[in-house]
Amino acid sequence: MNSKIFVHEEKLLNNIYAIKKRLNPGVQTMAVIKDNAYGHGLEGVAKCLSPHVSWFCVARVDEGVRLREIGIKHPILVFEIPNNRTAALYVQYDLTATLADVSSFDVLEPGTSFHVNLDTGMHRLGVLPEEVPVLLDKIDWHPELTCTGVYTHFAKADDPGNPEVEAQLRLFKSLRAKLPGDLMTHTANTGAIFYYSELDVQFDAVRPGVSLFGYGAGDVVIEDLSPALVWKSFLMQVKFIRKGEPVSYGGRWVAPEDGYIGTIPVGYAAGIHRILTNKIHFQIGGKLYPQVGTISMDYSMVFLGNDHLQVGEEVTLLNTESQNAKNWATHAGTIPYEITTGIHPLIPREYIP
Ligand SMILES: *Cc1c(COP(=O)(O)O)cnc(C)c1O
Repeated sequence: MNSKIFVHEEKLLNNIYAIKKRLNPGVQTMAVIKDNAYGHGLEGVAKCLSPHVSWFCVARVDEGVRLREIGIKHPILVFEIPNNRTAALYVQYDLTATLADVSSFDVLEPGTSFHVNLDTGMHRLGVLPEEVPVLLDKIDWHPELTCTGVYTHFAKADDPGNPEVEAQLRLFKSLRAKLPGDLMTHTANTGAIFYYSELDVQFDAVRPGVSLFGYGAGDVVIEDLSPALVWKSFLMQVKFIRKGEPVSYGGRWVAPEDGYIGTIPVGYAAGIHRILTNKIHFQIGGKLYPQVGTISMDYSMVFLGNDHLQVGEEVTLLNTESQNAKNWATHAGTIPYEITTGIHPLIPREYIP
C-alpha cells in the first residue's frame, strides 16, 4: 500500500469524554464501531475504547466475531437481521442479536439473547407498531430465547429541532410501555445525544457512532469533538510543466503558470472520491497545495508552484485540523461517514497513543 492511516487515540478519548459529559448519571455508552469503525479500524478502535464504554455495536455478525477473536469481553449488539448462515454464531460468540422482524423467532438458536428494534419512523429495519401484539406473544412462546433490551433509531436526529424526532420518541415510549419493564432501553445516536439534549432520549444507554471519531451528525459544528484520523502518502514523482499544459484525464486542469506537479500514488480506488477533483488541498511540509487534474484510480496530482519538492516527501491527505473528512464531505456533497468508511480497509492503520 502506498499510504497509511494514523488514528490518534487521544482524540478518540477526547470524543468519548465529550459524549459522556452530556449523559445523565448512570447512562451507559454503547460504542457503534460498525463498518471497520467508520473506516478507523475495528480492532484498534475497540481496544482503545474498551476501558471507556460498556457495550459495542456492530452492523454484522462477522464484525462481532472479529471483536471476540481479539479478546473483547464487552456485550456486543449486532444490528443486522439474523439468518440461517449467521444464527449459530450468536450463541457461539456470545453476541446479542437484534430482533427486527418477528420471523427471526424461527431463525435464532436456543440460548440467544436479543434486543427488539422497534420501527418508529425510520422505516428501515424494525418491528412495526401494529406488530407489537404478535411480538409479545412470540416472546412468550419462545422461552429458549431471551429478550434483554429494546431500542429504536431516529431518522432525523442530525437536524436540530426537527419535530419528527419528538414524534418518534413519543411513539417509542408508548410501545415501550407494553413490553416488560426491566428491558435495557436505548434510542440515541450522535444527533440525538448532541442536538436533542432537552428531550428524554437517553434511557439506559446511548449509541454514538460518528461522534466517537470527531464529527457531528449534521451541519451544526460541535466544538468539543475532534477528528481522530490522519491519512498520509508521499510524492512518487515530481515534474516541471509549462503554463497552459493540461493535467490528467480530460485535461480538466490547465497550469496557470510554469511550475511543478507532484504525483501521489493514491486515487479513488483507495478512497479519494473522484468528485473531489480540483476541490481539495493536500499538506506537504506544513503547507497546503491544491489537488489538480482528474483524480484517477491510483493517482492524484498536486500543483507545487515553484516549490521543487523531493520525490518521497510525505504528503498528508487528511489531517485532524481543517483538511478533515467533513471538509471533503462538504466538497463531495456527502457526509463524513461516507468519506471515512470509503477509505480502503486494506490500508494499514496505526494507533498513536
Ligand atoms: C449507525 C447507527 C448508530 C450510530 O449513528 P451515528 O449517527 O453515527 O451516531 C446508532 N444506532 C444504529 C441503529 C445505527 O445503525
